Amino acid sequence: QLDPSVQISLKEKLKEIFGFSQFRGDQEAIIHNILAGVNSFVIMPTGAGKSLCYQLPAISSEGTAIVISPLIALMKNQVDQMNAFGVNAQFLNSTLSKAEMSKVKKDTLNGSLKLLYIAPESLTKEENLDFLKKANISFVAIDEAHCISEWGHDFRPEYRKIRGIIDNIGNLPVIALTATATPKVQMDIQKNLQMEDAHIYKTSFNRKNLYYEIRPKADAKKQLIRYIKNNKGKSGIVYCLSRKMVEEIAELLNVNDIKALPYHAGLDAQTRMHNQDAFLNEDVDVVVATIAFGMGIDKPDVRFVIHYDAPKSLEGYYQETGRAGRDGLEGNCLMFYSIDDIVKLEKFNKDKSVTERDNAKHLLMEMVSYANLGVCRRRQLLSYFGEYQEKDCGFCDNCMKPTEKFKVQDEIVLALQA
Ligand code: ADP
Ligand code: MG
Repeated sequence: QLDPSVQISLKEKLKEIFGFSQFRGDQEAIIHNILAGVNSFVIMPTGAGKSLCYQLPAISSEGTAIVISPLIALMKNQVDQMNAFGVNAQFLNSTLSKAEMSKVKKDTLNGSLKLLYIAPESLTKEENLDFLKKANISFVAIDEAHCISEWGHDFRPEYRKIRGIIDNIGNLPVIALTATATPKVQMDIQKNLQMEDAHIYKTSFNRKNLYYEIRPKADAKKQLIRYIKNNKGKSGIVYCLSRKMVEEIAELLNVNDIKALPYHAGLDAQTRMHNQDAFLNEDVDVVVATIAFGMGIDKPDVRFVIHYDAPKSLEGYYQETGRAGRDGLEGNCLMFYSIDDIVKLEKFNKDKSVTERDNAKHLLMEMVSYANLGVCRRRQLLSYFGEYQEKDCGFCDNCMKPTEKFKVQDEIVLALQA
C-alpha cells in the first residue's frame, strides 16, 4: 500500500530537514496514514516523537497544516525549531502585532506556510475562521488531545469545540495525539472528535528501566537527604506541591551540601531560565520544583525523580516520573506518601464545580489506591493506561520488598468522602 517513491522521499526529508537517519516506532506508518487522508489517533508516551508525525507530512503536503496546541510556550518551541530547520512555521495568537498577523495570513493564503500553530481559543474567533476557510489546509493536528476530556488531568473546555470548527473549515483529515490516554479518556476523545473510524497507533507505556518505590512520609526530610547523598553527582528532580515547600526543600538541601535550585511559577522568568539552565548544564545536581517544571525539557540522564508530596493523579505521576532515565539507563522514582497530603489535595478542590470536583476526586482515589496496594506497581500503572501485564515486573518496591507495604486505611476513604 505504501508507495515506494513516497517512502524514499520521506526518508530523505527526515535526514535532510530533521537530521535523523531512521523513523522511530510507528512514525512512518502514521505519516503515510495522514498523507493518505485517513484520520489517525496517536497514543504514545512523552518523548516518543509525536511531533514529527505531523511536522513531516505537513512539510510534504501542498498547503498548510493546522496544529492545535494548548500552550503558547509549546507552540513557540516548535515554531522556533521548525524555523531553525528552514521550514516556514508560524503561530497565530493574541500576542501578534498587526504586521505579524497579516504575514501569517498572507503566507497561509499563498500556501508557503507549512505549519500554522494555533490555540483553540484563537481558532474559535470569527475573523480567523474566515481566512482559514479560504486557505488550502492539508490536515489538522490536535496535539495534547487529552485536553478534550473532562476525565483527563488537563481539561480545556475550548478543546471540545474543535470538531465543529474543523467541519466549518472543510472536510479535513485529522490527527489527534496524546501521551496520556486511559481507556476512558481515549473513548471520550474519539467520540468528541467523531473519530471512531480513526486508525489508532498506541505504543506501550512501560518504562522498563524505571524503578518505582513508595515510602511512608514519616521522617521524609531525613530520608530525602540520605537518598540524594547516596546518589551523589547524579541529576535528579524533587517535586513538591507548593511554591513554599519548593523553597523550603531547596534550602534544606543546600544547607546539607547538596547543590540544588528551586523552580516554580512564582519566580520571575529570568530566574526560572537561569535555574533550569543550571540544571541542564549540571552546575547543580538537583532541581526542586512544582509541576511547572519539566514540560518540554529534554535531559536524558535524570537519574531520580522524587515526589516529596503526592501528585494529584496517576497521569501526572507517570509524566513526572517519566523524566527519569530517558536515555534508557538507570531511573529511580521515589514517592513519599502520607494521607495528610491527600487530604490537603482534596481541600484544593473545594472551590471547583461539582463535576470538576468529582473528577479530581476520582483521579486522586486512583492515586491513593496505587500508593496503598501491595501489588506490582508497574502492573497497576500499566493497567491504568489500559495495558495488561501478565507477570509481576520484579523491578519495583512491591516486587522486591513485599513485606514493606502499608495498609489501606478506612480513614482515607472517610476523609475523601467528607
Ligand atoms: P513527544 O511529543 O512524543 O513527547 P517529541 O515530538 O517532543 O516527543 O520528540 C521527543 C524527542 O525525540 C525530540 O528531541 C525529537 O527531536 C526526537 N525524535 C523524534 N523523532 C525522532 C527520530 N526518528 N529519530 C531520532 N530522534 C527523534
Ligand atoms: Mg508532544
